[in-house]
Amino acid sequence: MIVILKPNVAHEKREQLIEWLKAQSLGVHISDGAFQTVLGLIGDTSKVDLDLLASLDIVESVKRVSDPFKCCNRKFHPEDTIVSVGEAKTGGGYFSLIAGPCSVESEEQIVSIAKAVKAGGATMLRGGAFKPRTSPYDFQGLKAEGLELLKIARQETGLPIVTEIMNINHIPLFEDVDVIQVGARNMQNFDLLKELGKLNKPILLKRGLANTLKELLMSAEYIMASGNEQIILCERGIRTFETYTRNTLDLSAVPMLHELTHLPVVVDPSHATGSARLVPPMALAAAAGGADGIMIEVHNDPMHALCDGAQALTPEQFAALAEKVHRVREVLAV
Ligand code: PEP
Ligand code: MN
Repeated sequence: MIVILKPNVAHEKREQLIEWLKAQSLGVHISDGAFQTVLGLIGDTSKVDLDLLASLDIVESVKRVSDPFKCCNRKFHPEDTIVSVGEAKTGGGYFSLIAGPCSVESEEQIVSIAKAVKAGGATMLRGGAFKPRTSPYDFQGLKAEGLELLKIARQETGLPIVTEIMNINHIPLFEDVDVIQVGARNMQNFDLLKELGKLNKPILLKRGLANTLKELLMSAEYIMASGNEQIILCERGIRTFETYTRNTLDLSAVPMLHELTHLPVVVDPSHATGSARLVPPMALAAAAGGADGIMIEVHNDPMHALCDGAQALTPEQFAALAEKVHRVREVLAV
């Protein structure tokens, strides 16, 4: 249920109303917009007297919301959420370019790629230290050492670092990471999501391989219900019957999610297509479709990458793409 307050209500009256609602065992999510305050009621609202609530002099309107996701629902929070990581902002008109290798392989590799993607326009550096590989015999990442190498690359470039967590017990290791990525395979690791909800740190939440948008939003809800509202959603393709591409990029997810939620939405065309030559057209399509950012895998030597070389752009290809993405965004702004 959402309660829209009249403009300029006295603080004291508003607090009285919130206390009264909380006394009915309801959680109250407060969204202070430029013009209006919206209260989102969380919990069992079946016993709330809607008519009584609507009759209060500070209340403009009351609506029942049947969607199971509340905190991330745009109805509760009409304005776009902007997730800030230093100077890198995502959402609400701000666009992020997250680039870097699939995996951190060595100090030289990550630092040189970080410098190259920064020169090419990246606003954040990605790189996996803990890798969720389909085969246990494949490179599993440099783990804690990889995190340290990412920090060196951050120091060298100033780019905030985005890296994936796979295990709830590793949370302390990620204390100095700027954005924690929850990969597709962990989108419904609910215990992990609940713990990440206790942090004061942005989370990049990827859509699962076979998950609906509602399930993605319910996973975001797990993080938000625990208190962390800094979430960037990521569409990275879903599994369909198509086999020419690694996954099928569901670009309609971008406008659909923008309708449903106030959280920013970025697109990862690298994992969505699995093929470097398909990445630029899909990245441009994502920008044209209103994405709040794109995440691109970039490697200085794709032929010898330890992971996902086939979908990696070279730094030169990334820079050329970044330029075109900005041109597409300029057209949209006109
Ligand atoms: C990644 O970004 O490195 C990754 C493993 O992606 P996904 O979880 O989308 O497969
Ligand atoms: Mn990868």
